[in-house]
Amino acid sequence: MAIAIHPAVDGGMQAGSPDFQGGTLTCKCRDAQVTVSIKGNVAFNHVCGCTKCWKPEGALFSMVSVTPRDNLSVTANAQKLKVVDASAAIQRYACSGCGVHLYGRIENKNHPFYGFDFVHSELFKERGSAQPEFAAFVSSIIESGAKPEQMGAVRARLKELGLEPYDCLSPALMDLIATHTAKAKGVLAA
Ligand SMILES: [Zn+2]
Ligand SMILES: [Zn+2]
Repeated sequence: MAIAIHPAVDGGMQAGSPDFQGGTLTCKCRDAQVTVSIKGNVAFNHVCGCTKCWKPEGALFSMVSVTPRDNLSVTANAQKLKVVDASAAIQRYACSGCGVHLYGRIENKNHPFYGFDFVHSELFKERGSAQPEFAAFVSSIIESGAKPEQMGAVRARLKELGLEPYDCLSPALMDLIATHTAKAKGVLAA
């Protein structure tokens, strides 16, 4: 049986459209859906194995990307959104009806990713948003119940899909974090 990475990639990768202009994320409630409007395309889309990101039923990974926070606005039923864990660096806003996470926001201005919100682009009503590029925090799926002996097959499947597996973030994102830290310490000129 094929390994279920995430429904958006299991049947083969859907290429994103360079013309994607943004759209509307919706939760999975039948009525009174929470909707979130996103201006422009998302960036750094990837599948994530961490235990914090929202994953669809049966998936080993979430799919998550970023958008500038000014490009995101809640457009309906905002009263249903609740912060999952107020102590986490990323405040993840989940629908209290269906449990789907609509967006994650960083309030700490010193955080390397301050200014970006995290979203699950599979929730777009529109098609064509940026496709996932890599797999992050792959080893962390063991913390959600994946068997250690399954990991070779999981990494092989990710590579087959063109999603290079990393056990942290991708090199580009790790470099962004280190650059932020180096500037904060004065090692690099700000
Ligand atoms: Zn909902
Ligand atoms: Zn994650």
